[in-house]
Amino acid sequence: MATVAEPEAGADVATYQQYIDGEWVGADGGRTYEVINPSTEEVMATAPDGTRADAQRAIAAARRSFEAGEWRLKSQLQRSQIMFEIVKHLEEVSDGWSLLEAQNGGTVIRKAAVIDVPFAIEWFRSMAEQALSIPWYEPLPWIDQPYVSWNFVQREPVGVCAGIVPWNFPLLFTMWKIAPALAMGNSVILKPAPQTPLTALEVARAIDDTGLLPKGVLNVITGSSIDSGAELVENPDVDKVAFTGSTASGRRVMAEAAQTIKHVVLELGGKSANIVCPDADLDIAIDGTLFGVFMHQGQACEAGTRLYVHDDIYERFVDRLVDSAASLRVGDASDFDSQVGPVISRQQYDRVMARIAAARADGATLACGGGRPSSVGEKGFFIEPTVFTDVPTDSSAATEEIFGPVLAVQRWSDVNEVIQRANRSIYGLAGGVWSRDTRAAIDIAKQLRCGTVWINDWHLLHPQAPLGGYKQSGIGREHGIYGLKEYTEVKHICVDQNVPRRDRYLWETLLG
Ligand code: NAD
Repeated sequence: MATVAEPEAGADVATYQQYIDGEWVGADGGRTYEVINPSTEEVMATAPDGTRADAQRAIAAARRSFEAGEWRLKSQLQRSQIMFEIVKHLEEVSDGWSLLEAQNGGTVIRKAAVIDVPFAIEWFRSMAEQALSIPWYEPLPWIDQPYVSWNFVQREPVGVCAGIVPWNFPLLFTMWKIAPALAMGNSVILKPAPQTPLTALEVARAIDDTGLLPKGVLNVITGSSIDSGAELVENPDVDKVAFTGSTASGRRVMAEAAQTIKHVVLELGGKSANIVCPDADLDIAIDGTLFGVFMHQGQACEAGTRLYVHDDIYERFVDRLVDSAASLRVGDASDFDSQVGPVISRQQYDRVMARIAAARADGATLACGGGRPSSVGEKGFFIEPTVFTDVPTDSSAATEEIFGPVLAVQRWSDVNEVIQRANRSIYGLAGGVWSRDTRAAIDIAKQLRCGTVWINDWHLLHPQAPLGGYKQSGIGREHGIYGLKEYTEVKHICVDQNVPRRDRYLWETLLG
């Protein structure tokens, strides 16, 4: 695997650097911080502990490159062709990324190899391809009122775009932020989460190796605090912030970005409702429910963490679900046998354990899990897949995002009532319905107040489909033409058609 920085002879951890203005650089002041493998709690690398000064350097580089126009002024065909060339290189050098993603992010390697790495590259390719169908120029109909003019809408890149991402899908989120921004001609600064900077830096290395992007068009900055992210949100030279993270942080980002009236897209938290109908195929619905909630230890924003099972099948469904959940193999994320890895950090481990304790205190019944698995050693932030039944409707386990391997199960009997309960949430990111009756399932899907609904599946994303939240799960959309257009400004250009002075009667309101 080609890494940004191999360990020096005698050293056992790799030293990474930031990517600013086409150069590999340390942090201002030379500070570094330790990057931890959550399966072993060992230090696996050091990264620059960047601050506001580093963000300012990256912003200046992005601004200069944008104004210079070496990328922004290329035709869409040229930009997309360059991105297709980059994809070929990404495919060649990405062999080690699934292991790195597993070691750094704690995602099990069997998932990283099948989902994270191929999807990340495919998203980069697909954004370049879809960008070819974005209308950069749209003529408007001729009008002769108040008098004849020729009007068209010109689309343009937004400018300097900042991407700020969390730790749960570091590689995918890297691509989800940089690919649409680049495809639409912007200059971009990516700030990975403090815990998971490594695959983002590998992507930057791979792109840098191609030499195909002008200097300063792509920048990746790292740091252990939110300082550099805060600078990206506050700095007037940043035109757009695409933020993925918690709803609490999203509120602060939106408030700060308001000071300079930036474009803001927010992809925030969720507590997605999963409705199992009495006619569901139980084999599919049980496995799909497990995949929907426990993939990546429940650390997915659109995880199906609120499960509503119909009374008629409740006992059968829940008994089998609990048996299967209890049999999932928890272990080191780098081990191909592991189905469930660790949560990201000690802090997240403590947070999830506190939520489990709160659920028990609120009267929910612990059906399985709830602790540290006996199969793992003392190291690593491992938590058993945990299922609570009889969860009180308004308890925190039923309403708040836990962001760990915890499922809250409730019953239902009336379809209208379960839809109301599903919608009674501050969140509106995703939902799901399991039924053999597609028409009935679509009827339910249409009534759910959320941005994505899966019918008889979960986590199935589509590069052409919009992803985003209703309510406090966010604003704006990523992916497809919906996401690409978020990286553009639209400008109305009105061209006079040699209207004689005497016919310009609007002017007479001032000059007549
Ligand atoms: P977080 O909000 O704490 O941090 C996310 C990123 O934002 C990090 O890089 C962090 O350094 C940075 N950040 C935090 N506060 C900031 C501020 N005030 N200004 C600038 N940058 C700031 O989230 P997290 O704990 O890393 O991630 C988990 C959260 O992300 C969950 O709530 C999850 O639902 C959400 N999430 C949402 C989506 C989505 O698409 N809707 C996807 C994945 C994760």
